[in-house]
Amino acid sequence: MKIVIVGGVAGGASTAARLRRMDELAEIIMIERGPYISFANCGLPYHIGEVIEDREKLLVVTPESLKAMLNIDSRVKQEVTQINRKEKFVTVKNLETGESYTETYDKLVLSPGAAPIVPPLPGVDKPGVFTLRNLPDMDRIKAFVDQKKPARAVVVGGGFIGLEIAENLQHRGVQVTLIELLNQVLAPIDYEMAALVHQHLTFKKIRLALGDGLKAISDGDSGWLKIELSSGRSVDAEMVVLSIGVRPENQLAKDASLDLGFRGTIKTNSHMQTSDPDIYAVGDAAEVTQRLTGEDYALALAGPASRQGRVVADHICGRDTTFNGVIGTSIVKVFDLTVASVGLNAKMLEQAGTPFSTVIIHASNHAGYYPGASPMALKLLYNSEGKILGAQAVGIEGVDKRIDVIATAIQSGMTVFDLEELELAYAPPFSSSRDPVNIIGFTAANVLRGDAKVMTWEQVDSLDRNKTAIVDVRLPEELALGMIDGAVNIPLQSIRQKVNEIPKDRPVLLYCQTGQRSYFASRALNQLGFDAYNLTGGYKTYSHAVGRQSNFDVFEHVTISSREEIKEVPPTAMVSGNEFTVDACGLQCPGPILKLYNKIKEVEDGDIVSVQATDFGFTSDVEAWANSTGNRVLSLDTEDGKIVARIQKGAGKPKDEMAALGKNKTMVIFSGDLDKALAGCIIANGVIASGHQASMFFTFWGLNLLRKNEHVKVKKNLVEKMFGWMMPRGTQKARLSQMHLAGMGTAMIKGIMKKKNVDSLPAMLQMAIDNGVRIQACQMSMDLMGIKREELIDGIEVVGVATMLAASDDSNGVIFI
Ligand code: FAD
Repeated sequence: MKIVIVGGVAGGASTAARLRRMDELAEIIMIERGPYISFANCGLPYHIGEVIEDREKLLVVTPESLKAMLNIDSRVKQEVTQINRKEKFVTVKNLETGESYTETYDKLVLSPGAAPIVPPLPGVDKPGVFTLRNLPDMDRIKAFVDQKKPARAVVVGGGFIGLEIAENLQHRGVQVTLIELLNQVLAPIDYEMAALVHQHLTFKKIRLALGDGLKAISDGDSGWLKIELSSGRSVDAEMVVLSIGVRPENQLAKDASLDLGFRGTIKTNSHMQTSDPDIYAVGDAAEVTQRLTGEDYALALAGPASRQGRVVADHICGRDTTFNGVIGTSIVKVFDLTVASVGLNAKMLEQAGTPFSTVIIHASNHAGYYPGASPMALKLLYNSEGKILGAQAVGIEGVDKRIDVIATAIQSGMTVFDLEELELAYAPPFSSSRDPVNIIGFTAANVLRGDAKVMTWEQVDSLDRNKTAIVDVRLPEELALGMIDGAVNIPLQSIRQKVNEIPKDRPVLLYCQTGQRSYFASRALNQLGFDAYNLTGGYKTYSHAVGRQSNFDVFEHVTISSREEIKEVPPTAMVSGNEFTVDACGLQCPGPILKLYNKIKEVEDGDIVSVQATDFGFTSDVEAWANSTGNRVLSLDTEDGKIVARIQKGAGKPKDEMAALGKNKTMVIFSGDLDKALAGCIIANGVIASGHQASMFFTFWGLNLLRKNEHVKVKKNLVEKMFGWMMPRGTQKARLSQMHLAGMGTAMIKGIMKKKNVDSLPAMLQMAIDNGVRIQACQMSMDLMGIKREELIDGIEVVGVATMLAASDDSNGVIFI
């Protein structure tokens, strides 16, 4: 039998090798257009980055070694230009000589792969604009980086290859701007999981422009390229790498009138036979079936290409072997992170109209007490019967193992209940007695059994805060990391004592940092008759997902004109004191933050605390924490896969100033009514109690509350005097805005307040003054109403509107009463 194979890399070479193992006598000819066969295209980005230093290592076999080992006739620099199906021969062009010849076949295997998409936009053909598919492409990019030493590169496309190129160029000292049309990188994973990657890219100083596309490339100043984006922004760079996807090489098949399928791939059956039974197609150019949906699909990955080659060889040699489709298992390294996924994601399921549920956990790759533990975010998608539809994981270590286990479970038709029972290898350096796969199984099964109710991060912002209670069960020290708007803090430790403070007449959403403590709290509350929900993935998932994703403008004002100019400006530190080290490796957030918090409490202002952690969430948490606690992050980097943050105590913005920026409140007290003034004082005292600043700006009728109770002799004209007589003087004269009932209602409420030990309005106002609430009287209203400074109580300021406005600038809310 004579078999001709078109394409000599992943699919083609594996077909050829398996054919020989199956049929020693077959004539096997493998024709490759490029100069190399069976090279490691997956390793190309890493040679550019000099992570794989030796180029020869990418060349797995040569035509000579293949001939010697397997007696395969492989021909390079030759292109199959035509298929004659009727007479069963192909036309081959020798690209070195330009001559063409024909080669007959009994069976033909097409494995031509997929070519990078080059959009038809101005400037994409300019020197300095590259794509990466094969060794010659790699050599061109590497030579450019070696010789021209570019300072800046633009990578277009945030898929696997784009991210690998970005990382490797950064590794070579090139400042990379990554442009992605979607609102996230890595389309196979869901947005909140990609948000973890965005944060990591920012930490690694990749300029990330999401939701933006390439519009044109033109010549910029000084020989640079000017990359114009659809948003109207532009970036200067010396080089551009286009990695916006691939399209199947289907021209040969098209010309031979073979049926085409999903997205231009070559239609195949379960034996990978095309519409002509003597012609097979494998790899990136071949259509496959998505096993979970049963629908036609395309998947440009090396594993399926290689397995399909094996199936085809077996089938050609008479075995009834089938390729049963793909479930889309994939993995990529993004700097220190590993991102892997399998199956369908939320977008695919929504598009298909398939009902599904999701849970997210944050678990350690191995026992936390064993050195080197690091957390991973793991998401599971499943249906109401527990069928596993997909999984995604982002972490540092152990991500591959968990996704591979779940991929195996999906292929065996297992359910989330089976994940609970999986018996997986455990010793502290490798896992925990409950592996993350077991835990996500428990979590999903709990929901399906009705033992737990969850809400996702997307649901939080649409919750009606008047109809839902939100309870943050973290420790008060953790709140510096931020809170969900409208939440009250009741730490898990005191939830049983304070259960009466939680309303029972509405749903209660509970959350903690990762979702574990709030799960405990939700179990307790549900058993006590509450309608309690746990925020799946906790505040960690929520805060990453709702936070900023692009960071383009962070770098907007940085101009880089040569490699030498890319340097970080060290923060101007205080005169430094002693340095202390905190080892928080293996702890999940908020563990590292709490360790830092406790150490910072012990040390003096100016001292530096150096924290080592393995949870990458710490990189954003530590900045947020330092910003809101008046400390300063001097440096944040990774060493041997560990995050090392150096924080100087008291060297950040003054705590008061920071607090002012975040949660200060300004109140404008317009009314002189007792109830409204009381509400104002209660809020102001509450703001102060939570460590923030409050100011109360009394204007018009509100000014009367600041008048002394007794008459003060001051010089006034007649109108001012009359006004003064008519208006109530001081807090004691304040009346209820409703139900005053000729003084009876007001007297009653004062009585009730006394009985219930609620301070009177004068006492509350005095307490606010004593607590440091800024009490301001409006100068303009005083002038209009003829009120003089001497008539007002002590401890207040007489200010203009500008002062009130300045205070409101520093507040996150102005309340009008
Ligand atoms: P290819 O391996 O591309 O081989 C097709 C060959 O056919 C080409 O060499 C082409 O020159 C030749 N050819 C085309 N037409 C003709 C013709 N008419 N005549 C003669 N020869 C022809 N996949 C993963 O699973 N994991 C990874 O980490 C990964 N990383 C990657 C990194 C990069 C930079 C690239 C480019 C790809 C990566 N892939 C990865 C994808 C993986 O390499 C492909 O899915 C796989 O190589 C597909 O195999 P194939 O045989 O279909 O095509």
